[in-house]
Amino acid sequence: MTAFEFNEPALLDEDHRMIRAQIRRYVEDVIVPQADAWEQAGEIPRQAFRDFGALGFLGMRHPVEYGGGGLGALASVVLGEELARGTYGGVAAAFTVHSDMSIGHIAHRGTHEQKQRWLPAACAGEKVGAVCVTEAHAGSDVAGLKTRAVRIENGSSGGWIINGSKTYITNGVHADLYIVAARTDPHAKGSRGISLFVVEKGNPGLKVARKFEKHGWRSSDTAELFFDDLRLGDDALLGEEGKGFYYIMSTFQNERLVAGAMSVGQCAKAIELTVAHARQRLAFGKTLWEQPVVRNKLAALAAKTAAVRALVYQCAQMIDEGQDAVREVSMLKAYGCETLQEVVHGCLQFHGGGGYIIGNPVERMARDARILTIGGGATEVMLEEVAKRM
Ligand SMILES: Cc1cc2nc3c(=O)[nH]c(=O)nc-3n(C[C@H](O)[C@H](O)[C@H](O)COP(=O)(O)OP(=O)(O)OC[C@H]3O[C@@H](n4cnc5c(N)ncnc54)[C@H](O)[C@@H]3O)c2cc1C
Repeated sequence: MTAFEFNEPALLDEDHRMIRAQIRRYVEDVIVPQADAWEQAGEIPRQAFRDFGALGFLGMRHPVEYGGGGLGALASVVLGEELARGTYGGVAAAFTVHSDMSIGHIAHRGTHEQKQRWLPAACAGEKVGAVCVTEAHAGSDVAGLKTRAVRIENGSSGGWIINGSKTYITNGVHADLYIVAARTDPHAKGSRGISLFVVEKGNPGLKVARKFEKHGWRSSDTAELFFDDLRLGDDALLGEEGKGFYYIMSTFQNERLVAGAMSVGQCAKAIELTVAHARQRLAFGKTLWEQPVVRNKLAALAAKTAAVRALVYQCAQMIDEGQDAVREVSMLKAYGCETLQEVVHGCLQFHGGGGYIIGNPVERMARDARILTIGGGATEVMLEEVAKRM
């Protein structure tokens, strides 16, 4: 038993427990020793995706016949928690954007031919996915996106031409498969008239305009993209034309569940590191742990983390049972990611000056955590979703 470890929820079967143990070992033995170099490079080598994919962890949610594991939302929760416990939020983001936020669109909406073409390589980590929704003037307000896809009416081959841009796209520099949201009907109001397309790396109309320098998540690459008369065949359209907004919102449920799981993993690890530090750090003739204020605060943070974790598992169960979990998942995204801020900053505080120094995992975790109350549904937007359902 480490300094702060949760009990395994009864919901998890033997397979989930085995997956947790394997991912944890892999994160500790293989990822953590390399991750500082990835942080400095600002990207994760393709071989790391391949290695993690070869173990089956990138395709757990996708159908077995296309190279996946055929597992449910609980598997994503275990993945999110364990990657986040590694203390490198950028690695957790890059892997889960691929496994749980982008290629899932192909698994859910793709035809047999599309799944056959893209999923096996994606599950294996041979091809990396990115999801391209946000634009410079449309972030929280997804329905405001302006990137335009126009059907090619003349000529025999059909297809689409896309013009526009996307920003802050995780894996955007090095992805092979970009799931792009574009407006196919300019006359349809707001959320209607948006469709999803698969754009492959190497398409001459796809330009990586820049790679961003970021406050945190430094090992994951984040790009601005331009689409300049980007031509696609009819077979690039995912699902039905005009249903893209609905598809994005439905995949957001999984994205937000994984964000909640990542928050729990980071909270647990930050508390574990801080309890260990407090037990040995002396101040005023006793350890920090012996100061009631310190241990009380850490106990309160542990209690809040346990509450978030209970909500994570409740949401995963609701999703796996096919229940409408929008209200609970929105609560989780808001409360879980806000709790994470309190935990990482509380933990940094008890590391004293050392907590502010680069190289201390808690310093990195505090930076990495910051995006989680903004990306994938800002706290305020999530609470509105809850309020609408009250
Ligand atoms: C590191 C990183 C990785 C990302 N990865 C991806 C990716 O892979 N794919 C992708 O498509 N996008 C990605 N994003 C974009 C991210 O999802 C958006 O930044 C997020 O949705 C917020 O949009 P915005 O930045 O335009 O902020 P805005 O929409 O301008 O909102 C700014 C702030 O205003 C407040 N606010 C907004 N709306 C409301 C409201 N209705 N009520 C009250 N307050 C409100 C919130 O506090 C919000 O944080 C990423 C962003 C970052 C920084």
